[in-house]
Amino acid sequence: MNRRELLRATTLSSLGRLVDVRREISSTATPQYRPEYARKEVPPFQIVPYRGESYEDTVPDTLDLQERAELAIHGMTSITDPRCDYEIFWLADFFRNPPVMLHDFSDWCQNVEGIMEVLPLLRTATGSELNSEVDAIWMRTLLESIGSDGLCYIPLNGRPWGRIKTAGIDPVWKPDASVTWSGDPRISQVANACTSQRAIATMTVYYLRDHNSMWKATIEKMIDRLSQLTIEREDYCYFPAGSCEENAKINQRADMPVGSLWGCSWNSRTIQGLSQYFKVTGYEPARELAGKLARYTRYHGQIFDSQGRWLLDPEAKGRKLYPDIGGIYEVEGLQFGGHGHGHGIALVSLMEYAEACGDKDLQKYCKAAFEWALNPGAEYGVSRTVGWFPEWYLPGYQASESCIDGDMLALAVKLSRVGAGDYWDDIDRWIRNHFAEAQLLRPEPVYQLAQDQPHRSVNENETADRVPERSVGVWAGWASGNEWATWIGIQHCCTGNAPRALYYVWSEMVERRNDILRIHLLLNRASSWADVYSDLPFQGRVDVKMKQECKNLLLRAPEWVESNNPQVACRLNGTIRQPIWNGRYVAIENLRAGDRATLTFPVPVRTVQERIGAQTYTLVIKGNTVVSIEPPGNRMPLYASRTSFLENKEAPRRKVRRFVAETEVRW
Ligand SMILES: [Zn+2]
Repeated sequence: MNRRELLRATTLSSLGRLVDVRREISSTATPQYRPEYARKEVPPFQIVPYRGESYEDTVPDTLDLQERAELAIHGMTSITDPRCDYEIFWLADFFRNPPVMLHDFSDWCQNVEGIMEVLPLLRTATGSELNSEVDAIWMRTLLESIGSDGLCYIPLNGRPWGRIKTAGIDPVWKPDASVTWSGDPRISQVANACTSQRAIATMTVYYLRDHNSMWKATIEKMIDRLSQLTIEREDYCYFPAGSCEENAKINQRADMPVGSLWGCSWNSRTIQGLSQYFKVTGYEPARELAGKLARYTRYHGQIFDSQGRWLLDPEAKGRKLYPDIGGIYEVEGLQFGGHGHGHGIALVSLMEYAEACGDKDLQKYCKAAFEWALNPGAEYGVSRTVGWFPEWYLPGYQASESCIDGDMLALAVKLSRVGAGDYWDDIDRWIRNHFAEAQLLRPEPVYQLAQDQPHRSVNENETADRVPERSVGVWAGWASGNEWATWIGIQHCCTGNAPRALYYVWSEMVERRNDILRIHLLLNRASSWADVYSDLPFQGRVDVKMKQECKNLLLRAPEWVESNNPQVACRLNGTIRQPIWNGRYVAIENLRAGDRATLTFPVPVRTVQERIGAQTYTLVIKGNTVVSIEPPGNRMPLYASRTSFLENKEAPRRKVRRFVAETEVRW
């Protein structure tokens, strides 16, 4: 068994072992906490089975997004607490011994950062039923959280950690338009636009799957209530900072939150769910509210300038120090930058609205803002080569956050699918490199890291129960260019946003329109139209097994192969065909079910110097895949098990279970 095979075996066996761990937890634990939700009775609903065709296949042992999605399902359902309705532990700290996960108010990431939304999408992609008891309980608690006024409320009582670190959601507006704060014992529930925005998206996914009118009624009441809570200005509106008690009133003179942290939190991210619901149902109040918030975001929120450049948050300006990871960052005189994910999710949201409404001008603006984030200046450390984007766009900042890495992937997919840009080469590089490395595949490196850390006892809101195993499948919170964890370990906001990006890429990489089948990424993928087998990066070979008749198959040539390159060879059922080039794609015409198309091409190896974050590295890259990085990381090094890509000329084969959903959700 070579090193790579050993790694694979370890990954799979740990996954197998983890399934047992979860069963053990669920069968022995009795609920210990009783959160006081906004309502007791909820309407009935069912989780419709994830139907599709499942079959065994032998595939090249190369990157497989379906497998990564299964691992993500493992992570997001295992970081949960069965004593409290499977609420997630929002943070995992690997820099202490033993490593722990902890609860506090930010557990709301489960809802507000899209973990609940993406779980059914990943199950659609994989057919996986792993830990499926979690889904129904999450949806029951979501419905229990809907208040009498229609908003989605977070219960503060019945969870001992419910009021830990709630300062960010203050003030709390009351029915008489006065304010209090979340520590006030008379306040038992809080809601705001942020708690409701992904709830709308989550219920829309369920509505798409079962067409239960209950979801529609619940969503529309939520949107109508949100529309009552805005502060209206000319052609835009905003939500003020803070949260609401049930039936609260907002003072119409309340300040407008601005900037990439607070402006986006209270306002911009709400646009995405509204736009998704409008796209699915045509519900006009959703479009109207999304439109006003989109104009706030583009023109008034001090988040972007007129050219789409990312503005540094007003409260950070003029300060000498900006405290965060690594301690000190010079921001005096800095005009552009700010929070990566704040800006990123604002742009994803604007793009969702621009797509839903066919607003070409806004699509162009989103493209400009995306391009700024790709090329903000060398001092910000963005790596377009590997797909590394800083948690904070500040000169010299050391850590990426998987949320912004995911947002950038999401934007690349969404801009490409509406034709506002062509970012498939970027997507290919990012998904193969930093994004793939930032997903935790094995528990052992976490144990190795934690064993050298200071011993600390485990607090009441924490658990040390098999934390490394339960974290397998989720993404890094603060990775550098060569190190999985620079501090703490995981912030589970990333467990919503990175898998959402994974789903977008998986979903859009194969596209069928009329009788044209486009394959945008040369990665393994099963679909109802054709199955793709990729030997990259071992060798330049991709096979497509047709399952349906197709007039025109378009395979995207890899980035390093220019159009009309004579070294590209094309075969149909083993017989050579002259490649027909259609831009960056090679076209093969008139295919029948059962046909096998093969594309071969060279895969060069190159060495590059690349600044990633605060440091410059030497990368060896085969095709688009980084095979080594110098200097290497030492605690939990990235790109540590990729040398076989260089050594082996042929991709090893392995047996997998492939799954093709009966209906895919285009999201
Ligand atoms: Zn995050």
